[in-house]
Amino acid sequence: MDNDTRQEFPAGRGPETLPATPDPAVAAQFQELLDGRWAEDRNRIREFLDDEFFRPQVGLPIGEAREAVLERLDRMRATGMQRGAFGADHGGTGDTGATLTGMEMIGHADLGVMVKSGVQWGLFGGAVEALGTERHMHLVPQIIDLELLGCFAMTERGHGSDVQNLETTITYDKDSGEFVVNSPGLSAEKTYIGNAARHGRMAAVFGQLHTPGSDESHGVHCVLVPVRDADGNAMPGVTIGDHGYKGGLPGVDNGTFMFDNVRVPRENLLNRFGDVDEEGNYSSPIDSTNRRFFTMLGTLIRGRISVGAAAGA
Ligand SMILES: Cc1cc2nc3c(=O)[nH]c(=O)nc-3n(C[C@H](O)[C@H](O)[C@H](O)COP(=O)(O)OP(=O)(O)OC[C@H]3O[C@@H](n4cnc5c(N)ncnc54)[C@H](O)[C@@H]3O)c2cc1C
Repeated sequence: MDNDTRQEFPAGRGPETLPATPDPAVAAQFQELLDGRWAEDRNRIREFLDDEFFRPQVGLPIGEAREAVLERLDRMRATGMQRGAFGADHGGTGDTGATLTGMEMIGHADLGVMVKSGVQWGLFGGAVEALGTERHMHLVPQIIDLELLGCFAMTERGHGSDVQNLETTITYDKDSGEFVVNSPGLSAEKTYIGNAARHGRMAAVFGQLHTPGSDESHGVHCVLVPVRDADGNAMPGVTIGDHGYKGGLPGVDNGTFMFDNVRVPRENLLNRFGDVDEEGNYSSPIDSTNRRFFTMLGTLIRGRISVGAAAGA
């Protein structure tokens, strides 16, 4: 039997032989094509990353790796590329695509910086801006400028994908006008939380919202909880754990939180989609509990796109 599968192509129809030396003009055109809409931003970031400061740092002790990632994040802050993630009314530019492209490019140099920027600006900042109202917006410029480092505390030890059944409780105390944030058991421990182990000072904490006179939870809501004081000590009632070394992202300080009846002012509730008045009455512009839940989870969408971008990086 004849096993020779080679074909003769008619003249001019077959694949051409690649030139031994690539044509720089073709390479440039190809890059332009792949860079797409944010080509200019990508070029700016290429220049920014072309610096000894961003060379890979392998094998640093965990404490140094974390500080190195924070320093790089601060360099990134100075470029202003994070501003696209926020609205123009709050100190941003509203160009989400440019910011996500920037984060993807940073991932080529250091995935730790990309993830930490995603936690700080995408998740924590995104939760404050998207779930909060006017009374929270003074925090956004502080988040953009890294004056306030924060965490997005959603996942619990017993509840990862199953966010709807989180166990952390956020209970309104009418007498004091405060919310009481509590972790009822170990399965309610907040885990994997970026910025928790070392740098975060405030956390956007997701939990079941309860008001007086209502046995049922109003569903998962988000409240701002200070987790460290200015000296870096855990706030009263907040227990912070450290995940330590991980298989990857050694410079990202993932950790845990447990809350022991931690009290925060009523105004700390991110109340765009669900609010509690001084008397403890709950209200929401969205009647359906399910629709309200999925609207709130919308803050995660940008993060998921970045995870895809990180895989590409
Ligand atoms: C590096 C890192 C950083 C993180 N940072 C943060 C952070 O800053 N803040 C935060 O809140 N969380 C953070 N997380 C947690 C992350 O959001 C969770 O890991 C994620 O939600 C999945 O939860 P889980 O790990 O408990 O997995 P599980 O939900 O237990 O899922 C385990 C497996 O079961 C599958 N599965 C789950 N449910 C179903 C179902 N109904 N049907 C079929 N299959 C299913 C999943 O696809 C998966 O393969 C981080 C995680 C990592 C790894």
